[in-house]
Amino acid sequence: MGLCVLKFGGTSVASPDLILAAARRIIDTRAAFSRAVVVVSAMGHTTDQLLELADAVNPHPSRRETDMLLATGEQVSIALLAMALQSLGAPAISLTGQQVAIRTTSSFTRARIRSIDTTGIMAELDRGRIAVVAGFQGVTDDGQITTLGRGGSDTTAVALAAALAADVCEIFTDVDGVYTADPRLVPDARKLDRISYDEMLELAVLGAGVMHSRAVQFGQRYNVPIHVRHSRKSDAGTLITRESPEMENASVVGCALKENLGRVSLRDLPNRPGVDAAIFNALAEADINVDDIIQNEASGGGMNISFTVEHRDLADIKPAMERVLTGFGRGEMSIDVGLSRVSVVGLGMRHHTGVAAKMFTALAEAGINILNITTSEIKISCIINRSDGERALKSVHSAFDLADGQPAAIDTITPMRSVRA
Ligand code: ADP
Ligand code: ASP
Ligand code: MG
Repeated sequence: MGLCVLKFGGTSVASPDLILAAARRIIDTRAAFSRAVVVVSAMGHTTDQLLELADAVNPHPSRRETDMLLATGEQVSIALLAMALQSLGAPAISLTGQQVAIRTTSSFTRARIRSIDTTGIMAELDRGRIAVVAGFQGVTDDGQITTLGRGGSDTTAVALAAALAADVCEIFTDVDGVYTADPRLVPDARKLDRISYDEMLELAVLGAGVMHSRAVQFGQRYNVPIHVRHSRKSDAGTLITRESPEMENASVVGCALKENLGRVSLRDLPNRPGVDAAIFNALAEADINVDDIIQNEASGGGMNISFTVEHRDLADIKPAMERVLTGFGRGEMSIDVGLSRVSVVGLGMRHHTGVAAKMFTALAEAGINILNITTSEIKISCIINRSDGERALKSVHSAFDLADGQPAAIDTITPMRSVRA
């Protein structure tokens, strides 16, 4: 007996008609697999609207209350989707993250899944029901409601697919699959039939919002095939899978742009063992990812460190770094905003030479200044000014001949506004 986990993103359940269309798709898919677990995001732009509401009553809401608020979005869509399934004659039950027992860390707004208890879901499947699970949310050991970070429903879906040993995790979204670049920014981007977990993980971390990066990590760790496809088309999308030998043929498989980055610079720090550890432990404790770390000696014997972070993390970083500087008894902090990162990714980079030179030449020809460079075995990233972002992405995409000459098929659905609380 097969088991499929299906995930529907916000645009795919943005109105009653779309919810009914998703329900029909679920019923068809279940006919092929016999058992289905569905993960659903909040309708349309609900999560953004809830954040606007929070901002209207408190510009700096606590992260606990933010999660309490945001989790309501997915609770609406699971109930409506279960009702839609029932109206079409399919037995279905909606379950919140708490009811499923998706246990997470207590890092509100960016919690990580620690464990999932599949007993309840299995019992529902054994009763012949479709389990409709709220994406993006979980619960701590002491009963606090958490969320997994924006776009986190993908992670709920793939983690559930791993825990249930599902045959496949189908991610239904508003594009035909994973493209060589965001098709909204690069209209002639090409859809990929397959991509390796490693490449997808790099692209997701580097800004390809089509998949939440931790979902790809779960998929890779537990070997869950992930199929990203259009929610209202039957064509095959993109399979995220284990690497195969021919995947190394292309030096670059895709490129990505990450906007809204800021740089934190710490100057005149003491130059002694333990300084980096103190800084990065404080960031790790706050569950904040940093990148593009630059360290050098300051004139006068001190040390300078700078690193890049997302704007949304700055509110937590500032007090954490102020505490660290107080502990050192010296040092100054400054923060720059308005940066972006453009990146190219490909397994073939391990063997092809000249990839960096080609990327830097493309940026130079477009008159774009590179502020910092980071590389790994399969990616090259350049920090640039935010105003250069889209032009940089298009230049790099065309330098590596990633286009297919056809405009990409993308949706522009106007979500229902009346879900505003
Ligand atoms: P959902 O609500 O279904 O989770 P998202 O908005 O999170 O949908 O993800 C789909 C969007 O991801 C697309 O509409 C597209 O603009 C964006 N995107 C960014 N990079 C890529 C890429 N490389 N391939 C496809 N889509 C991408
Ligand atoms: N509703 C959440 C968000 O908008 C989670 C998700 O869509 O994956 O970020
Ligand atoms: Mg998403």
